[in-house]
Amino acid sequence: MKLDELKLNVDYFQFDESLFQKLAAQPLNNPHLVSYSKSACDLIGLDYEECEKEDFVKFINGEKVLDGSQPYSMVYAGHQFGYFVPQLGDGRAINLGSVNDWHLQTKGSGLTRYSRQGDGRAVLRSSIREFIMSEAMHSLGIPTTRALALIGSSHKVFRSYEEVETGAVVMRMSPSWIRVGTFEFFAKTKDSKKNLTQLADYVIKQSYPHLENEENRYEKMFYELVDNTAELIAKWQVYGFMHGVMNSDNMSMAGLTIDYGPYAFMDIFEKHNICNHTDVEGRYSYNNQPHIAGWNLEVLANALKDICDFEKLMSYLETFIPQHIKVYLELMNKRIGLDESLSGNSNLDLIIELLGSLESAKCDYNCFFYELTKIKSLEEVSAITDICVFREPIIKWLKEYKKVIKEQNQDFKIMQKLMKKINPKYVIKNYMLQESIDNAKEGDFKLVNDLLNIAQNPFDEHKEFERYSKPTPAEHANLRLSCSS
Ligand code: AMP
Ligand code: MG
Repeated sequence: MKLDELKLNVDYFQFDESLFQKLAAQPLNNPHLVSYSKSACDLIGLDYEECEKEDFVKFINGEKVLDGSQPYSMVYAGHQFGYFVPQLGDGRAINLGSVNDWHLQTKGSGLTRYSRQGDGRAVLRSSIREFIMSEAMHSLGIPTTRALALIGSSHKVFRSYEEVETGAVVMRMSPSWIRVGTFEFFAKTKDSKKNLTQLADYVIKQSYPHLENEENRYEKMFYELVDNTAELIAKWQVYGFMHGVMNSDNMSMAGLTIDYGPYAFMDIFEKHNICNHTDVEGRYSYNNQPHIAGWNLEVLANALKDICDFEKLMSYLETFIPQHIKVYLELMNKRIGLDESLSGNSNLDLIIELLGSLESAKCDYNCFFYELTKIKSLEEVSAITDICVFREPIIKWLKEYKKVIKEQNQDFKIMQKLMKKINPKYVIKNYMLQESIDNAKEGDFKLVNDLLNIAQNPFDEHKEFERYSKPTPAEHANLRLSCSS
């Protein structure tokens, strides 16, 4: 389809007008295309060639409004680092309407009623990170919002004293942009029961349509979100992903990864790793993610009190951690080639030991699984031990592993076939993104596009980028990033 043939549908104006703002984007100066995602184009039926045209940049920049589109920003609240903030909202995001149920949203297109002290902008650096990572997560089967395109500009944006940066806009797409924080805001409105009911019906229509005619559907919506979030966080941890800012306003009602900030795919395995520089206490550390997700779901249960039986929600929430552990173990078993459904054994001890060994060995987390997938046999493990700072813990674990394989009557070659499906050759690490950002700041977007291609095809060979399949260089491993974006 041509860009001009896209017809957008806006369904948010059913809510009270105090719950959103109709507005126009404030375009960036001298915008230019940095990258677009063909696979995201497919979702809305947009022809790829359309993205190469000037009009497409105008569309992303908010200068061209498509048929049916009526831009608006949404209000929400949220618990940030444990503290309730009564009013947040799309401070720099503008919703344009949906195509094929994908709600299009630009991030970085100027001030809104909800900008607070912010400038409504997003810098190129963080926009590249969000653009590439949402596509990378999708390719690993991790539920996420998507990204259609990224534009840069000459618009000056100030984030630190040392450097003047430039503004960018990412066009994001999601089946839903409703957050736990949206319910928190609606729960505090004067007409909370009516507003919450309307919002819950909206979320059900968007994300849980099979519940539309069910009795107790708001409670069931909560239960499904508990299930989805348990699975989501398990998938994050299985791949070593840390979100970095799991405030309740950054938790999706559809169970998607949302709002990419100072996230990281872990380099060297560390259970308590913290990727967000401002998270001094480690509230959002790698290991704490399931607990904090459960905490956020409790916040949601509280917000739903007017329309649900709170005790029932809390009682269902008790299944959250067990569900999370179940999915986590299933997938971790697959990462080491074991199929829990066949062996009937969760191999809990083996997996716990593996995590301890990876940490003691100071081993690159995702590279370990890739090397295990590739080695010729368990008698020749130097490719694995070579990526460890200390070999002994891994050698010891491999002995245990061999014992379990024997006990469970498994064939390592067949196990490797299973592993190939789940252990990618490439995982997008922060240092790679930084290289692409450094080039992009100089006006060279080739690496951004190459990384997008790698992110979208992580199991394939990318001959030119063999070095990205190796452990993160020590000087770049496990660095913390700032929230400023
Ligand atoms: P985040 O930490 O990016 O999820 O953002 C938290 C809140 O701050 C949200 O309400 C955002 O819309 C808002 N925000 C973040 N950065 C900016 C900015 N540069 N301008 C306006 N609002 C912002
Ligand atoms: Mg956010």
